[in-house]
Amino acid sequence: MKAYDVIVIGGGHAGVEAAAASARTGARTALVTIDASKIGVMSCNPAIGGLGKGHLVREIDALDGLMARAADLAGIQFRLLNRRKGPAVRGPRTQADRKLYRQAVQGLVAAQENLDVVEGEVVDLALSGDAVRSVTLANGTVVSCGALVLTTGTFLRGLIHIGERRFAAGRMNEQAAERLSGSLLQAGFHLGRLKTGTPPRLDGRTIDWNILERQAADEDPKPFSMMTDRITTPQIECGITRTTSESHIIIRENLHRSAMYSGSIEGVGPRYCPSIEDKIVKFGDRDGHQIFLEPEGLDDDTVYPNGISTSLPEDVQHLLVRSIPGLEGATITQPGYAIEYDHVDPRELDPTFETHRIRGLFLAGQINGTTGYEEAAAQGVLAGINAARRAGGMEPVQLSRTEAYIGVMADDLTSRGVSEPYRMFTSRAEFRLSLRADNADERLTPKAISWGIASKERTDRFRDYEARLSRTRKLLQERVMTPNEARRNGIALNLDGQRRSAYEMLSVDGVDFGRLAAIWSELNYVDRVTAEAIETEAKYSVYLERQRVESETIRFEEGRPIPMEMDFSDIPGLSNELKQKLEGRRPRSIAEAQRIEGMTPAAMAILIARLRAPAALRVAG
Ligand code: FAD
Repeated sequence: MKAYDVIVIGGGHAGVEAAAASARTGARTALVTIDASKIGVMSCNPAIGGLGKGHLVREIDALDGLMARAADLAGIQFRLLNRRKGPAVRGPRTQADRKLYRQAVQGLVAAQENLDVVEGEVVDLALSGDAVRSVTLANGTVVSCGALVLTTGTFLRGLIHIGERRFAAGRMNEQAAERLSGSLLQAGFHLGRLKTGTPPRLDGRTIDWNILERQAADEDPKPFSMMTDRITTPQIECGITRTTSESHIIIRENLHRSAMYSGSIEGVGPRYCPSIEDKIVKFGDRDGHQIFLEPEGLDDDTVYPNGISTSLPEDVQHLLVRSIPGLEGATITQPGYAIEYDHVDPRELDPTFETHRIRGLFLAGQINGTTGYEEAAAQGVLAGINAARRAGGMEPVQLSRTEAYIGVMADDLTSRGVSEPYRMFTSRAEFRLSLRADNADERLTPKAISWGIASKERTDRFRDYEARLSRTRKLLQERVMTPNEARRNGIALNLDGQRRSAYEMLSVDGVDFGRLAAIWSELNYVDRVTAEAIETEAKYSVYLERQRVESETIRFEEGRPIPMEMDFSDIPGLSNELKQKLEGRRPRSIAEAQRIEGMTPAAMAILIARLRAPAALRVAG
């Protein structure tokens, strides 16, 4: 019987990160997956990053994970979302060439020491008491392990729906994992059903690009990874179009044939990635719903129409596509579909992603009720490290809400559970001013080094970067000026007689590094990456104090009771979604309200303010 310290089941985004992280600790690791040629496949949209998700990618990179490096090699349209807003909520994103992304991930997996890829479907888990011992593949092979990470994505009893048609599959043209759910049920896990959907794919040669609005990549594409010096993959444009009133009529007339609206799907879908049917039913016609036409690769004519995920029948999808400007002659190369699959309640897990029931069994990715490549990959890193530590008899490691978005997600999932597929948003992080994408390396690479999962090359690069940051910080703190001197140099400070350092001056509106370098010429020798990082850090330092006070307020108020009769529906500023959840759950205290899924720090502040105000005593009826 073959034996490994750690076995990871599944070669999706969670699986590859878990396997690579485990192997980086030195643990002998096997990645077992149904089809090895599909490792690194993007099941749905060809893009990595975005709002909240981009932060996760940067954190995965800071822990020496693979996703950011693969995205840098495969990215064909880098764009920084929310560019006009503050750095804390900006979202780095890139569209990716599907084939290049898969090749990049497979290349990184192949290059990883201590990591074997085994092709096969795992059909059974063997336990000894409450600890995991081995797995059995469909061909009868048994492989033993010290710890196991399960990352089955949408494959557990996966069921695809296209209109009235339905068939078992893990993804289009890939077999489902039918038998493993039985092992989980036998071990006592409660399984739920969730669903997600994807749009039809189009033949780009049949689209009339000439009439479409275009969106270009950023002129200065910024790599995701600290290990990438610059982006060399050619950058492309995507097209933008909208649904029309004709599209809306087609959808309304055929709603009864949509798998989602005919009652044949029991799983709950992602609120934040609604199907086009959902958009029409819930948000109405508006002046059309926007669609981004994203090419799937540099030498691939396939186009992903982002915005029209659907489970309507194929004939209706055809009519729908042809009702959209630019797509009047478009051909569908693969129909859109919805997929239902089994997931495990993540409250069965510790924040290390180990199950309470079975020692050495870890779960990561979509099986935990999340949606998205980035969420899956981020869980994979932490689960992989901890599986290796479990196998090696070491203490587990965690990330807290104050340290990382990964910590926010681990805490949200394991303490609140999910009632719909969970995706990351910056609003979920109460400490988002300090958890920025730009400082992910500073926050997490020291941990990666101490946990033994950072390569020597990354460690050296990080040490050099750290030294540059600290030299620059010191230099800025040593250069000081009175307000009058600053005014003479064109910087308007309060005339309070207080001398301020160049570092402090960076937090003044309109003052940037270049402005200071015009005064102190030695600053011209600071490289651009370091200058930008210090500028952001200095600008945020004043807000961090405010953030600390806010979080202390929430902690201080945790025990405050909420009156039984409180009317949540008339609290201005709360979203309808949260009002409904509060009305439904009727929490008795601030601490209880905080545990409600989707409850954000901003919403907590609104609720606390309401309770503190005399108006709080006004009750329903
Ligand atoms: P996957 O990427 O699904 O990988 C699972 C892996 O496990 C596969 O390699 C599979 O072969 C392997 N496997 C499963 N069972 C076994 C077994 N028993 N033995 C061996 N190997 C096994 N995300 C979004 O953010 N937005 C969207 O709109 C969106 N839409 C989606 C639409 C569809 C149709 C699908 C399929 C996915 C969609 N996703 C979307 C989700 C996104 O693809 C997943 O969140 C992400 O891929 C999850 O990563 P994962 O590693 O958990 O699982």
